[in-house]
Amino acid sequence: LFAGPVDFVKGVVGMDGLPPADRPEVCFAGRSNVGKSSLINALTGRKGLARASNTPGRTQEINYFTLGDQTYLVDLPGYGFAKAPVAVVAKWQALLKSYLAGRQTLRRAFCLIDARHGVKDVDHEIMQLLDRSAVPFQVVLTKADKLGPNAIKPVIAQVEDALQKHPAAFPELVVTSSDKGQGIATLRAIIAALD
Ligand code: GDP
Repeated sequence: LFAGPVDFVKGVVGMDGLPPADRPEVCFAGRSNVGKSSLINALTGRKGLARASNTPGRTQEINYFTLGDQTYLVDLPGYGFAKAPVAVVAKWQALLKSYLAGRQTLRRAFCLIDARHGVKDVDHEIMQLLDRSAVPFQVVLTKADKLGPNAIKPVIAQVEDALQKHPAAFPELVVTSSDKGQGIATLRAIIAALD
């Protein structure tokens, strides 16, 4: 579906390290352990690709991948990780803010939410940042296989309700399971349709 190779490009620690803004890009955000690496691996069909983002030292970087020749996939650092020192958190928040507000080629952010947990306060904070930066975003529920079809309904309702507070949010959620492959083709199609 994505013409050309999927590859790790670089980890970025400051705005001056961003690759040239020469193609559309999408970014992925979510709390630590939400299943972001697994989703990126499922999406790209490359196991272990996003592991780079989770290795110590890489976790505070904005990690760039090519999604074929046309698009960048941007893996944002996981948030809500209590163990991170305040100074580290402050540094990545500053980078995140600059990135979201300043990246002209950013077409859409995907906010990953664990299907078992719904939208938490830290998720609202990121969504508010996206609102203020006028970055359109879409919620992706992860690990849907951990819930039965009936148990997921109230979570979807909670998330849809939470999104009403966020002007930059798309109303439609994408329900996924990286383990079962659920929703992965849908997500690919959404990305492929952006330009
Ligand atoms: P990250 O920290 O957001 O990159 O999260 P990971 O992708 O490393 O996943 C965190 C944990 O959740 C790991 O133990 C994964 O195996 C598990 N996980 C991720 N996606 C799924 C999924 O779709 N279904 C299930 N059952 N587990 C998942």
